[in-house]
Amino acid sequence: MSQGICYLVGAGPGDPLLLTLKGKSRLGRAQVVVYDSLCNPELLDFAPAGAEKIHAGKRAGDHTMPQQDINALLVRETLAGKTVVRLKGGDPFLFGRGGEEAEALAAAGCRFEIVPGITSAIGGPAYAGIPVTHRSHNTTLTIFTGHEDPAKEGSSLDFRAIAAAPGTKVMLMGIERLKTISQSLLDSGMDPQTPVALVREATTPRQQTLRGTLADIAAQAESTGFKAPAVAIFGEVATLDPKLRWFESLPLFGKRIAVTRTRSQAGALTERLRELGADAYELPTIRTEPAPDKRAFYELVAYAHGYDWLVFTSPNGADAFFGAFYEIYRDARDLGGVRIASVGPATAARVNSFRFTVDIQPEKHTAENLVAALAKETSVENLKILVVRPEGGRDVVSDQLSKLGAIVDEAIAYRTVPETEANAAGIARFQKDGADLVTFTSGSTAENFQKLGLPVSSSTKFASIGPVTSAAMRQLGMRVDLEAETHDIPGIVAAIEKFFQREKTPKPSGG
Ligand code: SAH
Repeated sequence: MSQGICYLVGAGPGDPLLLTLKGKSRLGRAQVVVYDSLCNPELLDFAPAGAEKIHAGKRAGDHTMPQQDINALLVRETLAGKTVVRLKGGDPFLFGRGGEEAEALAAAGCRFEIVPGITSAIGGPAYAGIPVTHRSHNTTLTIFTGHEDPAKEGSSLDFRAIAAAPGTKVMLMGIERLKTISQSLLDSGMDPQTPVALVREATTPRQQTLRGTLADIAAQAESTGFKAPAVAIFGEVATLDPKLRWFESLPLFGKRIAVTRTRSQAGALTERLRELGADAYELPTIRTEPAPDKRAFYELVAYAHGYDWLVFTSPNGADAFFGAFYEIYRDARDLGGVRIASVGPATAARVNSFRFTVDIQPEKHTAENLVAALAKETSVENLKILVVRPEGGRDVVSDQLSKLGAIVDEAIAYRTVPETEANAAGIARFQKDGADLVTFTSGSTAENFQKLGLPVSSSTKFASIGPVTSAAMRQLGMRVDLEAETHDIPGIVAAIEKFFQREKTPKPSGG
């Protein structure tokens, strides 16, 4: 036997969080990933950066790799000693041809393991609020494929048996043949009033549900242009209480939001927006680089204990400062008795993460308020203050403190540069789909967004994290449609929620 191994991993129906822990762990050690069109491409990020990623089929059917070729590829790579992950939509053994792949691997003497996944046949209905079994409605479940045309000579699908089976029936594939399939079920004696629900792109922010009966669902699907991939649910459970439709009722469901942030920071905002149902994607516009003059920065950090106050103007500044500090010193006490001020809660939280508390933080997160808070606390005249800040421009905090007679030094901790490499996917997405809303969390994200020169639809709204960012946006000629009340991630999320809530409430007529 070769030392290679092939994992047949179920990717789940679409929501990337529906990948199993085992699937994620196996992806994390993959040297080769062979994936399907139905897999969420974001899952590929769990594979090591150097892993080879092979797309084994386009959805429309063109350029699909024939099954024998996929089998041969898996066998070849595994025999070559590689760790291969075969990533398949839903569960690999439910209408996924995973059985054939496992047989091919076994026949060739390859080691393999199966990592089951959440199937769209059950997970899809669940996201539409449809339990496939329910004690008061049914006790059996039939899952069938609509892949074959029932009119086809020699079709192996037994519609009589399917129609006669009690309980819920779930069909995968076959949305394109819904008309002939529902006709066959009717012809086989199924009740025309049987409730039917179709769920397309289930578990993604693009999910859509269509409800009807066996008699009218095909016509409805045709008139609304309802397209694959979709699951069809036939049976009483398809009519359950609308209150169970939890996913499509999320406050930001389906809202397309482009998050412009530095690559490393975008995660938290995107994640929170997605939790609220948004179709959030990242458009990294800037990234931070270390201090251009590392030596000068390190010297100031090393001497930080000699100041009266240490002022942080951003979380990045805190990261850079304490990163350098712990390279120089091994003991937190080497910071001495210096007091610490931060411009806002996010910066304070970052300072706290290094086990330092913040002595002053203004209630409203602006540079002016920070200076006012400091000046209120003490006379700053002749105090030695070290301001940790990014490169470029003038710093309001330093300027104003100097004016008040403080002795200010600036530790240039980092600089932000336009992101040019990591944003290709985000740019492509923006060009293709646009956005209902774009978020800005600093003046530089706005500036660099503009530099990308992307086509922006007139209906696209712009959200700002606070007055400093808004001012920068206006200066760039951008509209500010909404501004956060508290200037941090929870604040901008709350503002976005409120904004779309207001949009949803119908305006009084005549007004
Ligand atoms: N092994 C997969 C099924 C593969 S067959 C699984 O367990 O889910 C492909 C069919 O799955 C599609 O035609 C569609 O019917 C269904 N499907 C897969 N992902 C889906 C999704 N996100 N929403 C709705 N249907 C989906």
